[in-house]
Amino acid sequence: MGLIVQKFGGTSVGDLDRIRNVAKKVAKTYDEGHDVVVVLSAMSGVTDGLIAMAKKIDEMPDKRELDVLLSTGEQTTVAILAMILKTMGYKANSLLGFQADIRTDRMSGSARIQSIGAERIRNMLRERTIAVVAGFQGHDDFGNITTLGRGGSDTSAVAIAAAIGADICEIYTDVDGVYTTDPNMCKKARKLSKVSYDEMLEMASLGAKVLQIRSVAFAKKFNVPVHVRSSFNEEEGTMVVNEDADMERLVVSGVTYNRNEARITLKNVKDEPGIASKILAPVADAGIVVDMIIQNTRASGLTDFTFTVPKTDFKQAMEIQKELSKMIGAEDVIGDDNIAKVSVIGVGMKNHSGVATKMFQTLATENINIIMISTSEIRISCIIDEKYTELAVRSLHTAFGLDAEAKVE
Ligand code: ASP
Ligand code: MG
Repeated sequence: MGLIVQKFGGTSVGDLDRIRNVAKKVAKTYDEGHDVVVVLSAMSGVTDGLIAMAKKIDEMPDKRELDVLLSTGEQTTVAILAMILKTMGYKANSLLGFQADIRTDRMSGSARIQSIGAERIRNMLRERTIAVVAGFQGHDDFGNITTLGRGGSDTSAVAIAAAIGADICEIYTDVDGVYTTDPNMCKKARKLSKVSYDEMLEMASLGAKVLQIRSVAFAKKFNVPVHVRSSFNEEEGTMVVNEDADMERLVVSGVTYNRNEARITLKNVKDEPGIASKILAPVADAGIVVDMIIQNTRASGLTDFTFTVPKTDFKQAMEIQKELSKMIGAEDVIGDDNIAKVSVIGVGMKNHSGVATKMFQTLATENINIIMISTSEIRISCIIDEKYTELAVRSLHTAFGLDAEAKVE
């Protein structure tokens, strides 16, 4: 019999009836003979409500106390579920983060798990007791309550699964899996039965709606198989696992887009050692994360230097560059925040040539101009004019054989 971690998200525990539904699922798994650890989120909307309440007191609430406050959301749901399970005749106990000994660093609000002393959970399982653990929370070395960042109970669940050596971590949510692209943008999007950790990490923009991305990095590191599925039906969802031969047959498994970036170009800067660091260091010092970078030297000894930043940081980054351009003698600084990044992702790319060509041809056929290109081992991304995002996503989805009615080997 297996050892299973089942995590239920906010909508799955949204009210008492839904928590009763969760109890039934947990009980069914337990009755099949498995050992079960349940990890819960707060009821949907509760964490937001608590944050709003704190902000009425102070726009920047004290971080330590905010963690104490936010952790109550999960404290409520674990107590309720354990109560229901007990009335159903099952042996179950709730555990808060500190009781499950989920130790984190001291970063209030975005703490990272450092270790899990799984002894207490293991003892409960030995007695065939269901452990109902509060997600999203832990404690630091000084006994302070910490929280793991929004969506953090996914990471709690995967980390607990790793710590106790669970056979699988099931993430029950309100969507039924990971799709080949955003179903709201492309009606032909298809549910993937399997996706690799690395693809999932690259698909952050798609996958983040389904799983906190940090939990995927955790799953990969400790090789925890994750099954993302709906808590409202019995259907199989998507398995997030190590890559296998099956996945390699499919060249591309997902098409993603991101409209949250902006582009900045410094025109005609001197092509000399140190120029890239001069341009980008002040951006990094301002805490702005740069994504793509392009620089190409011309015979004239001058170069255009282009990079992208999150749209929210665009104004600030432009100001920094305008100031800087005077110092380094750039001819001009040009910004554009009407861009989108479309990407094709797939581990199969490693063994197939011609993926980039196919992507460029597809965009060319639709008359979409490519402004920038970047690649990784399993991803090709193009920056295009924002207004063509939908067209680009749909045509790439079709071109790579991902459409729902298309036959995929
Ligand atoms: N309740 C927390 C949040 O809303 C953690 C979670 O649901 O994963 O972010
Ligand atoms: Mg969530």
